[in-house]
Amino acid sequence: MCINNHCFIIPPHILEELAKRGNASCKKTLNDTHRIYQKRNTVLNHLLQREISEAKGDRFIYDSENQYKQRVTLSREEGNEAIEDFTVNEAYDNSGFIRDYFKKNFNLNSTDGKGMDIISNVHYGEKYNNAYWDGDEMTYGDGDGVEFQNFASAIDVVAHELMHGVTQFMANLEYRSQSGALNEHFSDVFGTIIKQKYLKQNIEEADWLIGDTVVTENFPGVAIRSMKAPGTANDFDNQPDHMDNYYSGSSDNHGVHINSGIPNKAFYLSAIEIGIDDCALIWFETLKVLWRTADFNDMLEKVLEMTEQLISENKVCNTAFETVTRSFSSVGLIKVTA
Ligand SMILES: [Zn+2]
Repeated sequence: MCINNHCFIIPPHILEELAKRGNASCKKTLNDTHRIYQKRNTVLNHLLQREISEAKGDRFIYDSENQYKQRVTLSREEGNEAIEDFTVNEAYDNSGFIRDYFKKNFNLNSTDGKGMDIISNVHYGEKYNNAYWDGDEMTYGDGDGVEFQNFASAIDVVAHELMHGVTQFMANLEYRSQSGALNEHFSDVFGTIIKQKYLKQNIEEADWLIGDTVVTENFPGVAIRSMKAPGTANDFDNQPDHMDNYYSGSSDNHGVHINSGIPNKAFYLSAIEIGIDDCALIWFETLKVLWRTADFNDMLEKVLEMTEQLISENKVCNTAFETVTRSFSSVGLIKVTA
């Protein structure tokens, strides 16, 4: 869920269903959402107006000390030794791994390309069942231990959220309808790529799940989403994997976490054929040329253009164009030729 640049890892319909089943901390997390994004609007307006000089993407980890506040106590900053708090160290290590992945592979300096500080808040609230990016920093709850746990320790969740930052500065895809589903899609794509890199998995070993380690054994499912099999990750997973089942309702900002299953499946189908590294480059370069209101057809057009260009530059394999075309057509997205 992401409203005015507030991108939460647990979508509202999952929290609603768990609240209906009597989970009080899910109900509270859902209720707090509105308050959080209202408060942050002022901060974001300032962020968009400011001029910043080039920096190095230094990490700052704050402890919210179970309050519903950000930047309460600075626990660890760039270059400092590990401390006793496991969650602080996990947030530090995971955000560093992700920052270094983007720098090494795409020469991207932090989320904004200008070395913006990478700020994380841990132990946010009490039993807070979510993690979110809100325009300039990350915030993680501890989870209630009943349905959710350890948000800051989940490399795919941290990568998903930081990728919302990269998308915000690179294409600023509007967080509603198809542009919003693409925003979610890019976060899941780099969430899953970075998870595979972090775990040193090859493509056959990967589970293609998002958020499998933040759900407990009680949670009715194995993860938040599945890129390999959208719609199967849990009892509430309503993601389609084909345009035939496209969600056209107004919930979830007109289906941002729902219809993202369609391009997610196309990405999976491409990656298992041409590999995760070629796909990472194609998708990253495509994001650079997308814009605020881009829809699924725009994505298809640009991803094919970019694939063709990268083949001509010998940067991805020769079969990439055919594979990406076929993957998108498998989910019902076919390029209309004039
Ligand atoms: Zn998201």
